[in-house]
Amino acid sequence: MHQIDRIYINGAFATPHGSEWADLHNPSTEAVIGRVRLGDAEDARAAISAAKRAFPVWSRTSKADRIDLLHRLHKAVAASASAQFAALQEEYGAPFAFGDWLAKTAGNAFLEAANTLENYEFERSIGKTQVVMQPLGVVAAITPWNANAFFLCGKMATAIAAGCTVVLKPSEMSALQTQVLVEALHEAGAPPGLFNIVNGRGDVVGAEFSVHPDVAKLTFTGSTAVGRSIMSAAAQTMKRVTLELGGKGPQIILDDADLDAAIPTAVASGLMNSGQACIAGTRILVPESRKAEILSRLKSEIAKVRVGNPKDSSVTVGPMVSKKQWDRVQGFLRSGLDEGAELLIGGEGRPDGMDAGWFVRPSVFSNVTNEMRIAREEIFGPVLSVISYESEEQAIEIANDTAYGLQAFVLSSNVERARAVAAQLDSGRVQINNAYPEANVPFGGFKQSGIGRENGVFGLEAHLESKAIVA
Ligand code: NAD
Repeated sequence: MHQIDRIYINGAFATPHGSEWADLHNPSTEAVIGRVRLGDAEDARAAISAAKRAFPVWSRTSKADRIDLLHRLHKAVAASASAQFAALQEEYGAPFAFGDWLAKTAGNAFLEAANTLENYEFERSIGKTQVVMQPLGVVAAITPWNANAFFLCGKMATAIAAGCTVVLKPSEMSALQTQVLVEALHEAGAPPGLFNIVNGRGDVVGAEFSVHPDVAKLTFTGSTAVGRSIMSAAAQTMKRVTLELGGKGPQIILDDADLDAAIPTAVASGLMNSGQACIAGTRILVPESRKAEILSRLKSEIAKVRVGNPKDSSVTVGPMVSKKQWDRVQGFLRSGLDEGAELLIGGEGRPDGMDAGWFVRPSVFSNVTNEMRIAREEIFGPVLSVISYESEEQAIEIANDTAYGLQAFVLSSNVERARAVAAQLDSGRVQINNAYPEANVPFGGFKQSGIGRENGVFGLEAHLESKAIVA
């Protein structure tokens, strides 16, 4: 049994002041695998105070010193990849290949931030005016469970590169992965107080970060509902916010798509991380003229998907992270039928032959309209909705008819045609066929998928304040 009772403040491990404990589960077996002692508001304030004390020195460090530390942090996290992978599988059942990729790439953000810094000028002139880009101060990062180390490293790397200091609150469901990460980060020998990590509940530690006057910026990844409440709390002290929220990604299969390539791509994009991904493409828009063929191919592709213990490398869909999430997905499966959609494959309950674990049957609904709950709300599970369209214009209209706008996909054998469609989509990212973007391009959402952008110079500048000095 894991017993995690340490938080990380001012360059050292400490026992939390908070005395509440939360159980940790293995979602593949439902067994309790340990517990974590949660920090409270006093721990949050201690973390903020350490970050505040570290800021004056760190904000004046040279680019070379920052780059040097970012490289050390990258090396330390990369060295912990196999421990991170084990924790990822045990604590949230990440499917093998996805979990392996997450563990191996989690620390790459430090390298990317170092690269961005190499070429970034913190000062420039406009006429006779000197424009200086100045770090904001203490940045508070709040992250979800679905790619814990990846998000923690990404937010920390950008803030550190900008000259800010950081306090972080990981999801309370990711304590094991956080523990592995913090031990690795500690090895890099960063200045005390540069980053501080407090396990705790969102409505306690996260809430304290959101209102504390010494926090200059909040960078949050999580649900739209929590993002909304964080933004409203942050408004009281005018904190800068970057919010990476939910999604309901459309995948437009154009009528010229090569289905041999498009269908496996669409299924992989829809079921990414067992469907527990903000960028999953969960609305599949198909041309009426090819609907029958696409449905039949989708059904056989989904039937091939291996669900089960994520330690098996052939498994691509693991369990839902919690009982609560399993119940939620079951509710959506019922609501699809209640609202008149047709189940092409899958449905309620566990996959055949599985009697434990929060596993869901990969499911596809056809005859979905864009008004149904399964088409409007983020399910966060392996459930896809097929919506048919008559014309390209209608496909674009349906794709954009959503409160979200994080990631969209266009599948076509004509890339120029796909680009013309992409240009009309209200989405922070559009992926054409199976292309994958560079790590330093902007990431973030239109509409209720968020505010602001992460990565590269776009993320860096979101941690800087410009100051114009004229003489
Ligand atoms: P969540 O919103 O429930 O929790 C995210 C974090 O916020 C957790 O650390 C939680 O403890 C904290 N929190 C909860 N209430 C809070 C409050 N009142 N004040 C401050 N912090 C609070 O999300 P989740 O279930 O952990 O993750 C799934 C969600 O995250 C999905 O909606 C998904 O789309 C979204 N997500 C978005 C992105 C993106 O980049 N846009 C990436 C991954 C996940």
